[in-house]
Amino acid sequence: MTTFPVSGGCLCGNVRYTVSGPAHCVVHCHCSLCRRSYASLVGTGATIDRNQMKIDKGEENLTSFEMPPGIHRQFCRTCGCSLLYYLDELPDIVFYYPATLDGGVHPGHPQGSEHHVHVGSKANWEFFEDSLPRHDEGLDQAALMNNE
Ligand SMILES: [Zn+2]
Ligand SMILES: [Zn+2]
Repeated sequence: MTTFPVSGGCLCGNVRYTVSGPAHCVVHCHCSLCRRSYASLVGTGATIDRNQMKIDKGEENLTSFEMPPGIHRQFCRTCGCSLLYYLDELPDIVFYYPATLDGGVHPGHPQGSEHHVHVGSKANWEFFEDSLPRHDEGLDQAALMNNE
């Protein structure tokens, strides 16, 4: 398993971050907003406590975009890489993109806390087959914190 802290960053290297602990959960989101935000059929986010995410370098290079209202998406303004987002209604946690961790390391979420969400709005031509739980919509706060 992954030994924390672990670091990650954007494509151009201007923004670097460190997470100091394992993720609560990982969601693979298939919604239409994530498709446009990441130019990908699925966006993979991990939740951690906000105090476990530290921007080591390039914080001034992070651009914030609010869409929909209450969801703040942060990305590198040089290379466009999405790095994290946070929700006004969940002030204690931050979502980050574990695909941006160095070396493809596992984000440390416990077994059973990885889900497909918003499968009900996936692209018509997306096909995926795995044994992870699927949800037509999103997860509630307890599930995002893996507190169920
Ligand atoms: Zn960048
Ligand atoms: Zn989504």
